Amino acid sequence: MIEYQNILDSINQSVIKEQNKGTIASYIPELTNVDINDFGIHLQLVSGEQFSVGNSHQPFSIQSISKVLSLALAMSQVGTAIWERLDVEPSGNPFNHLSLLELEEGIPRNPFINSGAIVIADILVSNLKNPKADFLNYVRDITGDNSIDYNYKVAQSEKETGFNNYAAANLLKSFNNLHNDVEDVLDFYFHQCALEMTCQQLSKAFFLFANKGNCLANKARLTKSQAKRINAIMLTCGFYDEAGEFAFEVGLPGKSGVGGGIVALLPNQFVISVWSPGLNERGNSKLGMQALEQFTTLANQSIF
Ligand code: GLU
Repeated sequence: MIEYQNILDSINQSVIKEQNKGTIASYIPELTNVDINDFGIHLQLVSGEQFSVGNSHQPFSIQSISKVLSLALAMSQVGTAIWERLDVEPSGNPFNHLSLLELEEGIPRNPFINSGAIVIADILVSNLKNPKADFLNYVRDITGDNSIDYNYKVAQSEKETGFNNYAAANLLKSFNNLHNDVEDVLDFYFHQCALEMTCQQLSKAFFLFANKGNCLANKARLTKSQAKRINAIMLTCGFYDEAGEFAFEVGLPGKSGVGGGIVALLPNQFVISVWSPGLNERGNSKLGMQALEQFTTLANQSIF
């Protein structure tokens, strides 16, 4: 019997003492409205038990973590055809690196770099009747929580400063790998990134990836094979140019966002979500990574 609550309490104790908590992302101005001392963890076991510590009920901007949810919805709607428009190779480069478009063919290296997520956004804009409302309903539905919402100020703030993403979308358009209007696709993309969720909601939303594609309410939302593939992409591409370091230190598939959240999971066992808004130089939550390293070491639970 693993003493999960004791482990989370001891991680909390050790992490809050850290002097260097990293740096809050400021390239989206609205993201700076958080307290560097905020810290929370929520652990959801596949068996149903839950454990938490700190601010696990405080909503924060999930940013790139949303790319896993948009990929899941696109895969469930369109199936394998999406892989004609993007690849599944790790980038080894920062998330906003434009060369990742692989200019000769306009095929982004994977769905978690911005250009790849923008292709996924384009697919959803083509396939959903009311893209923003339908995506929000999907996230609410798999989480079982209707209180989840977009933060419209964050979406607007990102739109005003999103020059890199405009460049990426226009480049994709020039390669015929963006089928809708740049403005429509980016409006969707900026909103998906501006979803606000708590650690607890994130653990519940990601439950389907740990549970062979079945969400918390035990409805099949992905096939087993799709869930397996998304976990593989999280492991190899989930942490910008630090996916290797995350596998080395933590040893779980997962996804981070510049709002300071990280969700990671062990298939068939658990989902764990951490939030600490200070980032390391690679854009991943500094204390979040430290907390997850301690968790997989103390609980002796990782894929390796
Ligand atoms: N919306 C952010 C961007 O496109 C996502 C950044 C992130 O969390 O990686 O810049």
